[in-house]
Amino acid sequence: MAHNLAAFLYLVSGILFILALRGLSHPTTSRRGNTYGMIGMAIAIGTTLILASPGFGGLVLILVGLAMGGGAGAYIAQRIPMTAMPQLVAAFHSLVGLAAVLVAAAAIYTPSSFGIGEVGSIHAQALIEMSLGVAIGAITFTGSIIAFLKLDGRMSGKPIMLPGRHALNAGLGLALVVLVVVLVATESHFVFWLIVALSLLLGVLIIIPIGGADMPVVVSMLNSYSGWAAAGIGFTLGNLALIITGALVGSSGAILSYIMCKGMNRSFISVILGGFGGETAAAADDGIERTVKQGSADDAAFLMQNASKVIIVPGYGMAVAQAQHALRELADTLKEAGVEVSYAIHPVAGRMPGHMNVLLAEANVPYDEVFELEDINSAFAQADVAYVIGANDVTNPAARDDPSSPIYGMPILDVDKAKTCLFVKRSLGSGYAGIDNTLFYKDGTMMLLGDAKKMTEEIVKAMEH
Ligand code: NDP
Repeated sequence: MAHNLAAFLYLVSGILFILALRGLSHPTTSRRGNTYGMIGMAIAIGTTLILASPGFGGLVLILVGLAMGGGAGAYIAQRIPMTAMPQLVAAFHSLVGLAAVLVAAAAIYTPSSFGIGEVGSIHAQALIEMSLGVAIGAITFTGSIIAFLKLDGRMSGKPIMLPGRHALNAGLGLALVVLVVVLVATESHFVFWLIVALSLLLGVLIIIPIGGADMPVVVSMLNSYSGWAAAGIGFTLGNLALIITGALVGSSGAILSYIMCKGMNRSFISVILGGFGGETAAAADDGIERTVKQGSADDAAFLMQNASKVIIVPGYGMAVAQAQHALRELADTLKEAGVEVSYAIHPVAGRMPGHMNVLLAEANVPYDEVFELEDINSAFAQADVAYVIGANDVTNPAARDDPSSPIYGMPILDVDKAKTCLFVKRSLGSGYAGIDNTLFYKDGTMMLLGDAKKMTEEIVKAMEH
């Protein structure tokens, strides 16, 4: 295939990837976005296969690899619950990082098959690209594995703070820069593997001090790293599609990290430096006796039926309980009774960006009833009831009022400004950030202790009587 035609087809797939990202930015266009992405990927893979003309044996190998990887991906994606999506994404990122390391290793051992020179005389530019790709890839690999273990609860989410860790990380970073220079000068395989080993270590060290509530930012940051690693491989392989895709993933991940930091009112640097979100706040052990007002489904039904405005605040617990359909039924019943119902979505509610929007869309909640934090927060003051279903951290007033709280500064949904706040969860336990929520003990709060789905169904039943 003529190289110009291949470049053109790679460009077409790049444009389709951009359209895919655009489509995915809204629930109504997300299916179309996915379709664009799949067509773009099919064009990119087809073009690469034809361009590489791997011969019969090579083709069989590639197809077997595609079937194994694609089959495993499809199998896992179908079985994974929505709540486990962040750790799945982290696990997938680790594979992108590993791929970058393996491609760079293949390139340094057989440079001629990559068109980057001969053993002992690899072009300097290729060595620079390769060493950057391998370093970022190895950091992404181990960093993503740690993120996976933390998010999946196989490792404590608490920050692990090594003494002198900033100096250690800076030292390792500096050593990596020196080793890259040595590699470019000597092309030593030993130095190559030393870069791999130090980067693997750095990946672990960067992620272990990051705790609890900062994990979403870390996942999107690793997403960004995996994109840059892919772009690095793209340069080594001279593959335009990979460079475009890598740059798209790298920059969109970086932008998402920035938006999330803004959503939590945290600086990106403080997230990377770590150490946040591991403390369990002392609010519950300050010696003051705290009382909690507990209610039943009947109480909640009475309050909501007599309200004129109800705002629903979904959180991670709604996803665990799969309560979105019951919630929709509750909203329908309320609307039939003339109550105005809307949904308030916090940018980091649940366990991944857009988690709540996806679940509500699955239950066919009308999009025009769903509002982002900044568009609805002022409405709580006029609401009769805030129905908090499985959300916790995103409503914690400590983030707004208590400068000593580890989550101070994170914007929250002002549910405490509603006349009554109905709180559905199973216990008085804390949420993801491990911080006690003072809202449970406030006068206007009524705790509805139980499973989110069961409680919501019981409220609907009580309203129908
Ligand atoms: P939280 O994790 O703060 O709280 C969820 C609450 O749901 C828990 O306190 C739990 O309480 C309750 N719950 C669990 N299962 C059920 C159930 N079956 N029925 C009823 N309640 C249940 O969730 P939020 O959505 O408020 O906040 C999200 C947190 O996750 C933030 O700290 C955010 O930083 C973090 N995060 C967000 C990501 C994102 O991108 N959105 C990614 C990763 C982390 P109990 O056990 O008492 O029932």
